[in-house]
Amino acid sequence: MTAVLCLQRLARREISASALLDYYLTAISSRNRELNAFLHVDETGARRQAQAIDHRRAKGERLGPLAGLPVAIKDNICTANIPTTCASRILKDYIPPYDAHVVNRLREADAVIVGKTNLDEFAMGSSTENSAFGPTRNPIDPTRIPGGSSGGSACAVAADFVPVSLGSDTGGSVRQPAALCGVVGLKPSYGRVSRYGLVAFGSSLDVVGTLTTDVADAALVLGVIAGPDPRDSTCLRESGEDYFATVEQPLTDLRVGVPREFFAAGLDSEVEQAVRTSLSIYERLGAKLVEISLPTSPHALAVYYLVATAEASGNLARYDGVHYGSRITGTNLLELYEKSRGAGFGAEVKRRIMLGTHALSSGYRDAYYLKALKVRRLIKADYDAAFQRCDVIAGPTSPTTAFALGERANDPLAMYLADIYTIGANLAGLPALSLPCGKSQAGLPIGFQLTAPVLQEERLLRAARMLERQLRAKP
Ligand code: GLN
Repeated sequence: MTAVLCLQRLARREISASALLDYYLTAISSRNRELNAFLHVDETGARRQAQAIDHRRAKGERLGPLAGLPVAIKDNICTANIPTTCASRILKDYIPPYDAHVVNRLREADAVIVGKTNLDEFAMGSSTENSAFGPTRNPIDPTRIPGGSSGGSACAVAADFVPVSLGSDTGGSVRQPAALCGVVGLKPSYGRVSRYGLVAFGSSLDVVGTLTTDVADAALVLGVIAGPDPRDSTCLRESGEDYFATVEQPLTDLRVGVPREFFAAGLDSEVEQAVRTSLSIYERLGAKLVEISLPTSPHALAVYYLVATAEASGNLARYDGVHYGSRITGTNLLELYEKSRGAGFGAEVKRRIMLGTHALSSGYRDAYYLKALKVRRLIKADYDAAFQRCDVIAGPTSPTTAFALGERANDPLAMYLADIYTIGANLAGLPALSLPCGKSQAGLPIGFQLTAPVLQEERLLRAARMLERQLRAKP
Protein backbone atom coordinates (compact mmCIF):
# COMPACT_ATOMS: atom_id res chain seq x y z
CA MET A 1 0.00 0.00 0.00
CA THR A 2 1.15 3.53 -0.68
CA ALA A 3 1.32 5.95 2.23
CA VAL A 4 -1.52 7.91 0.65
CA LEU A 5 -3.73 4.81 0.63
CA CYS A 6 -2.78 3.93 4.22
CA LEU A 7 -3.69 7.44 5.33
CA GLN A 8 -7.01 7.38 3.48
CA ARG A 9 -7.96 4.09 5.08
CA LEU A 10 -6.92 5.37 8.50
CA ALA A 11 -8.89 8.58 8.07
CA ARG A 12 -11.99 6.65 7.01
CA ARG A 13 -11.47 4.37 10.02
CA GLU A 14 -11.38 1.32 7.80
CA ILE A 15 -8.29 0.33 9.75
CA SER A 16 -6.82 1.50 13.05
CA ALA A 17 -3.24 2.70 13.41
CA SER A 18 -2.60 -0.25 15.73
CA ALA A 19 -3.92 -2.77 13.22
CA LEU A 20 -1.90 -1.19 10.42
CA LEU A 21 1.21 -1.33 12.56
CA ASP A 22 0.50 -4.99 13.36
CA TYR A 23 0.31 -5.78 9.66
CA TYR A 24 3.80 -4.34 9.13
CA LEU A 25 5.28 -5.84 12.31
CA THR A 26 4.11 -9.26 11.14
CA ALA A 27 5.82 -8.74 7.79
CA ILE A 28 8.99 -7.66 9.59
CA SER A 29 8.99 -10.66 11.89
CA SER A 30 8.48 -13.07 9.02
CA ARG A 31 11.31 -11.81 6.81
CA ASN A 32 13.68 -9.43 8.57
CA ARG A 33 15.92 -12.24 9.81
CA GLU A 34 16.59 -13.16 6.20
CA LEU A 35 16.88 -9.63 4.77
CA ASN A 36 18.41 -7.72 7.73
CA ALA A 37 16.77 -4.43 6.77
CA PHE A 38 16.11 -3.39 10.37
CA LEU A 39 18.86 -3.18 12.96
CA HIS A 40 16.37 -2.28 15.65
CA VAL A 41 12.59 -2.53 15.79
CA ASP A 42 11.03 -0.37 18.50
CA GLU A 43 7.94 -2.49 18.86
CA THR A 44 6.91 -1.15 22.25
CA GLY A 45 7.40 2.51 21.34
CA ALA A 46 5.64 2.09 18.00
CA ARG A 47 2.64 0.34 19.57
CA ARG A 48 2.36 3.06 22.16
CA GLN A 49 2.35 5.76 19.46
CA ALA A 50 -0.20 3.90 17.34
CA GLN A 51 -2.52 3.42 20.31
CA ALA A 52 -2.24 7.08 21.26
CA ILE A 53 -3.21 8.10 17.73
CA ASP A 54 -6.19 5.73 17.69
CA HIS A 55 -7.26 7.14 21.02
CA ARG A 56 -6.99 10.73 19.83
CA ARG A 57 -8.84 9.92 16.62
CA ALA A 58 -11.65 8.32 18.61
CA LYS A 59 -11.96 11.51 20.62
CA GLY A 60 -12.20 13.53 17.41
CA GLU A 61 -8.94 15.40 17.99
CA ARG A 62 -7.13 17.11 15.14
CA LEU A 63 -4.34 14.87 13.87
CA GLY A 64 -1.19 15.51 11.87
CA PRO A 65 -0.86 14.83 8.12
CA LEU A 66 0.86 11.45 8.64
CA ALA A 67 -1.29 10.29 11.55
CA GLY A 68 -0.74 6.58 12.12
CA LEU A 69 1.67 6.06 9.23
CA PRO A 70 4.52 3.64 10.05
CA VAL A 71 7.94 5.02 9.09
CA ALA A 72 11.46 3.55 9.34
CA ILE A 73 14.55 5.67 9.92
CA LYS A 74 18.08 5.04 8.64
CA ASP A 75 20.31 4.31 11.59
CA ASN A 76 22.53 7.37 11.08
CA ILE A 77 19.62 9.67 12.00
CA CYS A 78 19.30 10.30 15.73
CA THR A 79 16.25 9.05 17.59
CA ALA A 80 15.80 9.88 21.27
CA ASN A 81 16.01 6.80 23.50
CA ILE A 82 16.32 4.49 20.50
CA PRO A 83 19.79 3.19 19.54
CA THR A 84 21.57 4.96 16.67
CA THR A 85 24.59 2.91 15.64
CA CYS A 86 25.48 4.10 12.12
CA ALA A 87 26.08 0.36 11.63
CA SER A 88 29.42 0.84 13.36
CA ARG A 89 30.96 -1.04 16.25
CA ILE A 90 32.14 2.29 17.61
CA LEU A 91 28.52 3.40 18.22
CA LYS A 92 27.17 -0.06 19.02
CA ASP A 93 25.69 1.07 22.35
CA TYR A 94 24.97 4.71 21.56
CA ILE A 95 21.49 5.96 22.47
CA PRO A 96 20.98 9.62 21.52
CA PRO A 97 19.34 11.93 24.03
CA TYR A 98 17.56 13.83 21.25
CA ASP A 99 15.64 13.43 18.00
CA ALA A 100 16.97 14.65 14.66
CA HIS A 101 14.97 17.53 13.15
CA VAL A 102 13.40 15.21 10.58
CA VAL A 103 12.31 12.84 13.34
CA ASN A 104 10.82 15.79 15.25
CA ARG A 105 8.90 16.70 12.12
CA LEU A 106 7.62 13.15 11.61
CA ARG A 107 6.50 12.93 15.23
CA GLU A 108 4.75 16.31 14.99
CA ALA A 109 2.95 14.94 11.92
CA ASP A 110 1.85 11.95 14.06
CA ALA A 111 3.82 9.35 12.11
CA VAL A 112 4.70 6.13 13.96
CA ILE A 113 8.46 5.47 14.20
CA VAL A 114 8.89 1.72 13.70
CA GLY A 115 12.66 1.32 13.96
CA LYS A 116 16.10 1.85 12.56
CA THR A 117 17.41 0.51 9.28
CA ASN A 118 20.73 -0.94 8.24
CA LEU A 119 23.34 0.96 6.23
CA ASP A 120 26.95 0.89 5.17
CA GLU A 121 28.97 1.96 8.21
CA PHE A 122 28.63 5.76 8.55
CA ALA A 123 26.88 5.72 5.13
CA MET A 124 30.12 4.87 3.33
CA GLY A 125 29.37 2.38 0.60
CA SER A 126 27.03 1.38 -2.19
CA SER A 127 25.90 -2.09 -1.16
CA THR A 128 25.18 -2.14 2.61
CA GLU A 129 27.87 -4.80 2.88
CA ASN A 130 29.98 -2.42 4.98
CA SER A 131 27.61 -2.71 7.96
CA ALA A 132 29.24 -4.01 11.13
CA PHE A 133 26.01 -5.91 11.76
CA GLY A 134 25.87 -7.93 8.54
CA PRO A 135 24.68 -7.00 5.05
CA THR A 136 21.11 -6.29 4.01
CA ARG A 137 19.81 -8.43 1.17
CA ASN A 138 17.80 -7.35 -1.84
CA PRO A 139 14.19 -8.49 -1.32
CA ILE A 140 13.73 -9.07 -5.07
CA ASP A 141 16.68 -11.50 -5.11
CA PRO A 142 18.28 -12.17 -1.72
CA THR A 143 21.54 -13.37 -3.28
CA ARG A 144 22.06 -9.76 -4.37
CA ILE A 145 22.86 -6.49 -2.63
CA PRO A 146 20.11 -3.88 -2.13
CA GLY A 147 22.43 -0.99 -2.98
CA GLY A 148 23.63 1.47 -0.40
CA SER A 149 24.25 3.10 1.76
CA SER A 150 20.52 3.37 2.63
CA GLY A 151 20.08 -0.31 1.71
CA GLY A 152 18.06 -1.12 4.81
CA SER A 153 15.64 1.74 4.14
CA ALA A 154 15.16 0.77 0.49
CA CYS A 155 14.77 -2.90 1.36
CA ALA A 156 12.24 -2.08 4.09
CA VAL A 157 9.96 -0.30 1.60
CA ALA A 158 10.45 -2.85 -1.20
CA ALA A 159 9.79 -5.78 1.18
CA ASP A 160 6.61 -4.10 2.47
CA PHE A 161 7.98 -3.73 6.01
CA VAL A 162 6.93 -0.07 6.04
CA PRO A 163 5.29 2.21 3.47
CA VAL A 164 7.90 4.97 3.97
CA SER A 165 11.46 5.27 5.20
CA LEU A 166 14.07 7.99 5.51
CA GLY A 167 17.60 7.69 4.21
CA SER A 168 20.56 9.99 3.69
CA ASP A 169 22.24 10.86 0.41
CA THR A 170 25.84 12.10 0.25
CA GLY A 171 26.69 10.68 -3.16
CA GLY A 172 23.64 8.66 -4.15
CA SER A 173 22.77 6.71 -1.04
CA VAL A 174 19.03 7.24 -1.36
CA ARG A 175 18.69 7.06 -5.15
CA GLN A 176 20.97 4.11 -5.92
CA PRO A 177 19.38 1.66 -3.42
CA ALA A 178 15.94 2.90 -4.52
CA ALA A 179 16.88 2.01 -8.10
CA LEU A 180 18.22 -1.41 -7.16
CA CYS A 181 15.22 -2.31 -4.98
CA GLY A 182 12.52 -0.90 -7.29
CA VAL A 183 11.25 1.98 -5.13
CA VAL A 184 11.24 5.78 -5.39
CA GLY A 185 14.16 7.63 -3.80
CA LEU A 186 14.18 11.41 -3.45
CA LYS A 187 17.25 13.47 -2.60
CA PRO A 188 16.19 17.07 -1.92
CA SER A 189 18.35 20.14 -2.65
CA TYR A 190 21.23 20.61 -0.25
CA GLY A 191 19.85 22.71 2.61
CA ARG A 192 16.19 21.99 1.86
CA VAL A 193 16.01 19.65 4.85
CA SER A 194 17.80 20.21 8.16
CA ARG A 195 20.79 18.00 8.92
CA TYR A 196 20.38 18.51 12.65
CA GLY A 197 20.70 15.03 14.13
CA LEU A 198 21.90 13.41 10.92
CA VAL A 199 25.30 11.94 11.79
CA ALA A 200 27.77 13.88 9.63
CA PHE A 201 29.69 12.16 6.83
CA GLY A 202 30.43 14.81 4.17
CA SER A 203 28.83 17.92 5.59
CA SER A 204 28.74 19.89 2.33
CA LEU A 205 27.02 16.98 0.55
CA ASP A 206 24.80 15.23 3.11
CA VAL A 207 21.03 15.51 2.87
CA VAL A 208 18.14 13.51 4.27
CA GLY A 209 15.88 11.93 1.65
CA THR A 210 12.84 9.69 1.36
CA LEU A 211 12.19 6.15 0.13
CA THR A 212 8.61 5.44 -0.89
CA THR A 213 6.62 3.24 -3.24
CA ASP A 214 5.61 6.10 -5.49
CA VAL A 215 6.26 9.74 -6.33
CA ALA A 216 3.11 11.10 -4.68
CA ASP A 217 4.26 9.60 -1.38
CA ALA A 218 7.66 11.23 -1.80
CA ALA A 219 5.92 14.59 -2.30
CA LEU A 220 3.82 14.02 0.79
CA VAL A 221 6.73 13.16 3.06
CA LEU A 222 9.03 15.87 1.69
CA GLY A 223 6.34 18.41 2.57
CA VAL A 224 6.57 17.24 6.18
CA ILE A 225 10.37 17.18 6.60
CA ALA A 226 11.43 20.20 4.48
CA GLY A 227 11.87 23.74 5.69
CA PRO A 228 14.06 25.95 7.83
CA ASP A 229 15.67 24.96 11.10
CA PRO A 230 17.88 27.34 13.08
CA ARG A 231 19.82 24.38 14.48
CA ASP A 232 21.46 23.73 11.09
CA SER A 233 23.19 26.85 9.78
CA THR A 234 23.29 25.41 6.25
CA CYS A 235 19.54 24.79 6.21
CA LEU A 236 17.93 27.27 3.81
CA ARG A 237 15.35 29.79 4.94
CA GLU A 238 12.90 28.90 2.18
CA SER A 239 9.90 27.24 3.67
CA GLY A 240 9.02 23.86 2.26
CA GLU A 241 6.03 23.80 -0.06
CA ASP A 242 2.98 21.60 -0.20
CA TYR A 243 4.49 19.35 -2.86
CA PHE A 244 1.64 16.89 -2.53
CA ALA A 245 -0.92 19.51 -3.56
CA THR A 246 0.73 19.99 -6.97
CA VAL A 247 2.29 16.61 -7.74
CA GLU A 248 -0.55 15.39 -9.94
CA GLN A 249 -0.35 18.42 -12.26
CA PRO A 250 1.58 17.46 -15.40
CA LEU A 251 4.11 19.96 -16.75
CA THR A 252 3.49 21.45 -20.17
CA ASP A 253 6.26 22.38 -22.62
CA LEU A 254 8.68 20.29 -20.61
CA ARG A 255 12.24 20.14 -21.92
CA VAL A 256 14.06 17.00 -20.81
CA GLY A 257 17.85 17.24 -21.01
CA VAL A 258 19.69 14.05 -21.90
CA PRO A 259 23.40 14.25 -21.07
CA ARG A 260 25.59 12.65 -23.69
CA GLU A 261 28.07 11.57 -21.00
CA PHE A 262 25.47 9.42 -19.20
CA PHE A 263 25.12 7.01 -22.12
CA ALA A 264 28.74 5.98 -22.52
CA ALA A 265 30.87 2.92 -21.82
CA GLY A 266 30.06 1.07 -18.60
CA LEU A 267 26.29 1.43 -18.92
CA ASP A 268 24.51 -1.93 -18.94
CA SER A 269 22.51 -2.38 -22.16
CA GLU A 270 19.32 -3.45 -20.39
CA VAL A 271 19.48 -0.35 -18.19
CA GLU A 272 20.05 1.84 -21.24
CA GLN A 273 17.10 0.25 -23.03
CA ALA A 274 14.69 0.86 -20.15
CA VAL A 275 15.86 4.45 -19.70
CA ARG A 276 15.46 5.17 -23.42
CA THR A 277 11.94 3.73 -23.32
CA SER A 278 11.07 6.18 -20.54
CA LEU A 279 12.55 9.04 -22.54
CA SER A 280 10.27 8.13 -25.43
CA ILE A 281 7.31 8.15 -23.05
CA TYR A 282 8.15 11.76 -22.25
CA GLU A 283 8.15 12.55 -25.94
CA ARG A 284 4.76 10.93 -26.30
CA LEU A 285 3.54 13.13 -23.47
CA GLY A 286 4.58 16.19 -25.45
CA ALA A 287 7.94 16.86 -23.84
CA LYS A 288 10.95 17.78 -25.90
CA LEU A 289 14.19 15.84 -25.54
CA VAL A 290 17.27 18.05 -25.66
CA GLU A 291 20.74 16.62 -25.98
CA ILE A 292 22.99 18.31 -23.45
CA SER A 293 26.53 17.89 -22.23
CA LEU A 294 27.99 17.86 -18.73
CA PRO A 295 31.61 18.00 -19.88
CA THR A 296 33.18 17.95 -16.42
CA SER A 297 31.16 14.94 -15.25
CA PRO A 298 33.93 12.40 -16.05
CA HIS A 299 35.84 14.00 -13.14
CA ALA A 300 32.95 13.92 -10.68
CA LEU A 301 33.88 10.60 -9.11
CA ALA A 302 37.45 11.73 -8.39
CA VAL A 303 36.22 15.04 -6.97
CA TYR A 304 33.66 13.32 -4.79
CA TYR A 305 36.17 10.89 -3.31
CA LEU A 306 38.44 13.78 -2.35
CA VAL A 307 35.78 16.13 -0.96
CA ALA A 308 33.70 13.47 0.82
CA THR A 309 36.72 11.76 2.37
CA ALA A 310 38.32 15.06 3.43
CA GLU A 311 35.12 16.07 5.21
CA ALA A 312 34.68 12.60 6.66
CA SER A 313 38.18 12.58 8.13
CA GLY A 314 37.29 15.70 10.12
CA ASN A 315 33.79 14.59 11.05
CA LEU A 316 34.91 11.19 12.27
CA ALA A 317 37.63 12.63 14.50
CA ARG A 318 35.03 12.93 17.25
CA TYR A 319 34.89 9.16 17.70
CA ASP A 320 37.95 9.04 19.88
CA GLY A 321 36.87 6.66 22.62
CA VAL A 322 36.45 9.63 24.98
CA HIS A 323 33.52 11.71 23.78
CA TYR A 324 31.48 9.03 22.06
CA GLY A 325 31.11 5.34 21.73
CA SER A 326 33.14 2.38 22.70
CA ARG A 327 36.46 2.85 24.49
CA ILE A 328 39.48 0.63 24.80
CA THR A 329 41.91 2.00 27.34
CA GLY A 330 45.67 2.03 26.87
CA THR A 331 48.71 3.04 28.83
CA ASN A 332 48.41 6.61 27.55
CA LEU A 333 45.96 8.84 25.70
CA LEU A 334 47.35 8.15 22.24
CA GLU A 335 47.06 4.45 22.78
CA LEU A 336 43.45 4.89 23.93
CA TYR A 337 42.66 6.72 20.67
CA GLU A 338 44.46 4.18 18.54
CA LYS A 339 42.93 1.16 20.17
CA SER A 340 39.39 2.56 20.32
CA ARG A 341 39.42 3.72 16.71
CA GLY A 342 41.34 0.68 15.50
CA ALA A 343 38.77 -1.68 16.94
CA GLY A 344 35.70 0.52 16.43
CA PHE A 345 35.92 1.35 12.72
CA GLY A 346 35.61 -1.08 9.82
CA ALA A 347 37.94 -1.31 6.83
CA GLU A 348 36.09 1.05 4.48
CA VAL A 349 35.76 3.77 7.12
CA LYS A 350 39.48 3.52 7.86
CA ARG A 351 40.25 3.72 4.15
CA ARG A 352 38.16 6.91 3.86
CA ILE A 353 39.76 8.51 6.91
CA MET A 354 43.21 7.79 5.50
CA LEU A 355 42.33 9.08 2.02
CA GLY A 356 40.75 12.22 3.45
CA THR A 357 43.55 12.92 5.90
CA HIS A 358 46.07 12.50 3.11
CA ALA A 359 44.14 14.84 0.80
CA LEU A 360 44.19 17.52 3.51
CA SER A 361 47.74 17.03 4.71
CA SER A 362 50.32 19.75 4.24
CA GLY A 363 51.94 19.53 0.84
CA TYR A 364 48.96 17.72 -0.70
CA ARG A 365 46.11 19.99 0.30
CA ASP A 366 46.52 22.35 -2.66
CA ALA A 367 47.13 19.57 -5.14
CA TYR A 368 44.19 17.42 -4.06
CA TYR A 369 41.58 19.06 -1.86
CA LEU A 370 41.73 22.61 -3.24
CA LYS A 371 41.92 21.34 -6.79
CA ALA A 372 38.88 19.17 -6.16
CA LEU A 373 36.94 22.21 -4.89
CA LYS A 374 37.77 24.07 -8.10
CA VAL A 375 36.58 21.19 -10.26
CA ARG A 376 33.45 20.94 -8.11
CA ARG A 377 32.73 24.53 -9.12
CA LEU A 378 33.04 23.56 -12.79
CA ILE A 379 30.62 20.67 -12.27
CA LYS A 380 28.10 23.10 -10.82
CA ALA A 381 28.69 25.44 -13.79
CA ASP A 382 27.98 22.56 -16.21
CA TYR A 383 24.57 22.06 -14.63
CA ASP A 384 23.85 25.82 -14.65
CA ALA A 385 24.62 25.93 -18.37
CA ALA A 386 22.56 22.80 -19.08
CA PHE A 387 19.54 24.19 -17.26
CA GLN A 388 19.56 27.16 -19.63
CA ARG A 389 18.40 24.69 -22.27
CA CYS A 390 16.23 22.23 -20.34
CA ASP A 391 13.95 22.03 -17.29
CA VAL A 392 15.04 18.67 -15.92
CA ILE A 393 17.91 16.32 -16.69
CA ALA A 394 17.21 12.62 -17.20
CA GLY A 395 19.29 9.46 -17.31
CA PRO A 396 20.01 6.22 -15.52
CA THR A 397 20.39 6.17 -11.72
CA SER A 398 22.87 3.31 -11.61
CA PRO A 399 24.95 1.86 -14.46
CA THR A 400 23.94 -1.70 -13.56
CA THR A 401 21.19 -3.60 -11.78
CA ALA A 402 21.81 -5.13 -8.33
CA PHE A 403 25.02 -7.15 -8.22
CA ALA A 404 25.67 -10.29 -6.20
CA LEU A 405 26.71 -10.12 -2.55
CA GLY A 406 30.48 -10.19 -2.33
CA GLU A 407 30.97 -9.46 -6.03
CA ARG A 408 32.64 -6.07 -5.54
CA ALA A 409 33.51 -6.33 -1.86
CA ASN A 410 37.26 -6.52 -2.49
CA ASP A 411 37.36 -3.98 -5.29
CA PRO A 412 36.71 -0.48 -3.91
CA LEU A 413 37.05 1.18 -7.32
CA ALA A 414 34.39 -1.07 -8.87
CA MET A 415 32.18 -0.28 -5.89
CA TYR A 416 32.75 3.48 -6.26
CA LEU A 417 31.62 3.29 -9.90
CA ALA A 418 28.10 2.48 -8.72
CA ASP A 419 27.75 6.21 -7.92
CA ILE A 420 28.89 7.57 -11.23
CA TYR A 421 25.50 9.08 -12.19
CA THR A 422 24.35 10.16 -8.75
CA ILE A 423 27.25 12.15 -7.26
CA GLY A 424 26.90 15.12 -9.63
CA ALA A 425 23.67 16.22 -7.95
CA ASN A 426 25.37 16.13 -4.53
CA LEU A 427 28.42 18.09 -5.69
CA ALA A 428 26.10 20.71 -7.21
CA GLY A 429 23.51 20.63 -4.39
CA LEU A 430 20.64 19.79 -6.74
CA PRO A 431 17.42 17.88 -6.05
CA ALA A 432 17.25 14.50 -7.79
CA LEU A 433 15.00 11.48 -7.77
CA SER A 434 15.07 7.86 -8.87
CA LEU A 435 11.94 6.02 -9.92
CA PRO A 436 11.51 2.46 -11.18
CA CYS A 437 11.33 2.34 -14.99
CA GLY A 438 11.41 -1.35 -15.73
CA LYS A 439 13.08 -4.65 -15.04
CA SER A 440 15.93 -6.61 -16.54
CA GLN A 441 15.39 -10.07 -18.04
CA ALA A 442 16.44 -11.49 -14.68
CA GLY A 443 13.61 -9.51 -13.07
CA LEU A 444 15.86 -6.93 -11.39
CA PRO A 445 14.58 -3.36 -11.03
CA ILE A 446 16.01 -0.50 -13.10
CA GLY A 447 15.97 3.12 -11.92
CA PHE A 448 15.41 6.29 -13.93
CA GLN A 449 16.96 9.45 -12.53
CA LEU A 450 15.70 13.00 -12.87
CA THR A 451 17.59 16.08 -11.67
CA ALA A 452 16.20 19.61 -11.38
CA PRO A 453 17.69 23.05 -10.63
CA VAL A 454 18.24 23.91 -6.99
CA LEU A 455 15.04 24.24 -4.94
CA GLN A 456 12.89 23.08 -7.87
CA GLU A 457 11.57 20.01 -6.04
CA GLU A 458 8.06 20.84 -7.15
CA ARG A 459 9.06 20.63 -10.80
CA LEU A 460 11.10 17.49 -10.17
CA LEU A 461 8.21 15.68 -8.51
CA ARG A 462 5.65 16.72 -11.11
CA ALA A 463 7.93 15.63 -13.96
CA ALA A 464 8.52 12.29 -12.23
CA ARG A 465 4.85 11.74 -11.54
CA MET A 466 3.92 12.27 -15.21
CA LEU A 467 6.25 9.46 -16.21
CA GLU A 468 5.31 7.22 -13.31
CA ARG A 469 1.66 7.37 -14.22
CA GLN A 470 2.41 6.17 -17.75
CA LEU A 471 4.79 3.46 -16.59
CA ARG A 472 2.22 2.07 -14.20
CA ALA A 473 -0.61 2.24 -16.69
CA LYS A 474 1.25 -0.20 -18.93
CA PRO A 475 0.02 -3.82 -18.71
N1 GLN B 1 28.25 5.29 -2.20
C1 GLN B 1 28.78 6.58 -1.93
C2 GLN B 1 29.90 6.48 -0.94
O1 GLN B 1 30.29 5.41 -0.64
C3 GLN B 1 27.71 7.49 -1.44
C4 GLN B 1 27.34 7.21 -0.06
C5 GLN B 1 26.24 8.12 0.43
O2 GLN B 1 25.56 8.78 -0.34
N2 GLN B 1 26.13 8.18 1.74
O3 GLN B 1 30.42 7.43 -0.45
